[in-house]
Amino acid sequence: MNIVLIGPQGSGKSTQGKLISDNFGMPYISTGDMFREIMTGTDEFSISIKKMMDEGALIDDETTNKIVRQHLERGKYYKGFVVDGYPRSVNQSMSAPFVLDIILHIRVPESISIERLLKRGRWDDNEVNIRKRLSLYNQETAPIIEYWRKHDKVVDIDGVGGVDEIHQLIYEKITNLINGN
Ligand code: ADP
Repeated sequence: MNIVLIGPQGSGKSTQGKLISDNFGMPYISTGDMFREIMTGTDEFSISIKKMMDEGALIDDETTNKIVRQHLERGKYYKGFVVDGYPRSVNQSMSAPFVLDIILHIRVPESISIERLLKRGRWDDNEVNIRKRLSLYNQETAPIIEYWRKHDKVVDIDGVGGVDEIHQLIYEKITNLINGN
């Protein structure tokens, strides 16, 4: 079973994704991590990826799909995985190189997102970049939820609260889905 995490920046996708990974024994993958790794290279491609990330822009779909496909081909993912950061647009969701079984939608208000990201302070978390990423989220990523809701794939989670409390909500929902309830 493949679980796709969707939520704005700062909604806790990576924190919750890793907890799902630990507690359900499924690998966690993140396109952000893949691109941050690529970005450390010195070739032209790596430099172009770093520039896009620095600007808070999205990497093009063709490159992103290719990176995800290659990543999946290299590891043991046939039993399912939890994915963070992909798909990031309806187009990516329709051309994904895997089946989207569950879309776990973590909702948080924008004020909380911004507050958490500024506290996190990752290299690309400056206020201009954050606003741009959040606006791209609203324009490009959020429509994935409405699209896949029609196919009954979406599970909504309230992402405001403590890490353990939110994990508990997610744990119950996933367990019910696994058991066919
Ligand atoms: P955040 O959710 O805070 O933006 P991520 O680690 O998910 O952090 O992504 C960091 C950056 O990596 C994005 O701003 C974007 O440039 C790039 N990126 C990650 N996933 C994708 C994707 N699916 N499509 C295009 N670009 C992506």
